[in-house]
Amino acid sequence: MNRREFLAGGAALGAAAACAQTCEDKTSGCPSMPHFVPPEKPAELNICLQLWVIPVGGDYNAKLDWLENNGFSAVEIPSGDWLFKETDKFMEAMKGRKLKISAACGGSDFSFADKARRDAEVARLMPMLDVLGKIGSAGLIVCPARRHPELPFEELRESFVGDTAKRLAQHAAECGTNIILEPLCRGETPFLKLVADAASMARDIGAGAKPMGDFWHMSKEETSFCGAFMSAGANLGHVHIASLRSRKIPGVDGDADNYVDGFRGLKAIGYRGAISFECGYPNKGKDANGKDVHLSEQERVDLVIKARDLIREQWAKA
Ligand code: MG
Repeated sequence: MNRREFLAGGAALGAAAACAQTCEDKTSGCPSMPHFVPPEKPAELNICLQLWVIPVGGDYNAKLDWLENNGFSAVEIPSGDWLFKETDKFMEAMKGRKLKISAACGGSDFSFADKARRDAEVARLMPMLDVLGKIGSAGLIVCPARRHPELPFEELRESFVGDTAKRLAQHAAECGTNIILEPLCRGETPFLKLVADAASMARDIGAGAKPMGDFWHMSKEETSFCGAFMSAGANLGHVHIASLRSRKIPGVDGDADNYVDGFRGLKAIGYRGAISFECGYPNKGKDANGKDVHLSEQERVDLVIKARDLIREQWAKA
């Protein structure tokens, strides 16, 4: 097969995919294509920023005002000590707003060989679930293991699914929230790297456990954004997004920042949770002393608004 034939084949596949899409709500017309059953409720785009990514300064009120006034529908909060120190003040600023509280993000590790240390990690996270349930958060993001898990893989999965995460998930469900399993990428963890694995662990853990997908990690590990999200199905609990070359605000990496395939998957499963920016801001280069030159507040605002528009545009295309 030469290049021209190969490309022609690709075009045929593209046409087949397009046909599958146009057949979504028709029962006739493409009898050879699999019939796609749309979700009960259509997907909904909820763009969200992590609290610290909000581009304006000021107190919680000022930040949340900016989010609401600029078409964002949710905010992601930190977990850890912040939850115990800041929640009251934060919830005061949330009063009367339509904004939802998506997930809470912070560190976790369940891979210690010493059971007492694993138990201590469970005990540390339990009270966070009480707070998250009370404030109506989507859940607590957890990563089972970082770079060098002390437990062998099989034992770690068994211990995570059957013990540590199980106990947390059961408590989360009682509190009306979830633990949300986040796959990372190679270099960060050797253990949980695929959305399908998180989905399978969440299934085995049971109520109170959900998988999530982070476009940044997914771009390194998954073969298909769409396929990965579809493997999580209706249980998908959260989504992180960033630019796909440098993990900055979506859009700063130009053509690389194409989320359409992923959005197609999210639409297919009827995802209505948050798509949350987990990313940094790019710098403007270095000054004469070699120090980073940061963006001004107005430049940060412009970048986030452009990212919001890019996501809306790609969502519409998906
Ligand atoms: Mg993430």
